[in-house]
Amino acid sequence: MAPTDQKPRPIVISGPSGSGKSTHLNRLLKEYPDRFGFSISHTTRAPRGAEQNGVEYHFVTKDDFLKLVDAGGFIEHAQFGSNYYGTSVQAVKDVAQQNRTCILDIEMEGVKQVKKTNLNARLLSLQPPSLDILEKRLRGRATDSEDAITQRLAQAKNELAYAKEPGTFDKVIINDDLENAWTEFKAFCLADD
Ligand code: 5GP
Repeated sequence: MAPTDQKPRPIVISGPSGSGKSTHLNRLLKEYPDRFGFSISHTTRAPRGAEQNGVEYHFVTKDDFLKLVDAGGFIEHAQFGSNYYGTSVQAVKDVAQQNRTCILDIEMEGVKQVKKTNLNARLLSLQPPSLDILEKRLRGRATDSEDAITQRLAQAKNELAYAKEPGTFDKVIINDDLENAWTEFKAFCLADD
């Protein structure tokens, strides 16, 4: 079960991989370290670049992930590409206990599940200006295999279509001009409600 009626309300940030979620998120966490806290997800994917266990993710084996699923330890979980990702009940509790606004960075299937819980999250979609630009960004970061890039682009199309459905997100931000997008992003996150 998700923790109920958290105040301040958690914020879900979603949008295609490569849309710039982490850039804005990291900036927010750096500028407002006492106000926001990141929900550290579990994933079965391998660490990328300088990622550290327990910081960006809890990196776990598929076995351990599935055990936590069986134990009811996740608020939501999904398969993305060939890996599993999930938000544990504990990850959200950890942030709430620090009296910080909990921020979840999750993909579309996770958003659908979160909407059915009593997490009462505010939902933000961050989107690339176009699929072409997204492809360039994914290739530019040079951390993913060709297969992973193809999968992520296919997934991006689904995510953008989902975000177009009325009422899916409270706010959509196009990450075109970085500073403009940051201003919108920050305003949404700082808005009290
Ligand atoms: P990446 O491998 O690039 O870190 O993440 C791939 C996708 O998985 C991103 O769209 C990210 O938002 C999503 N993701 C990360 N953590 C979670 C999670 O706990 N649950 C779900 N459903 N998606 C997640």
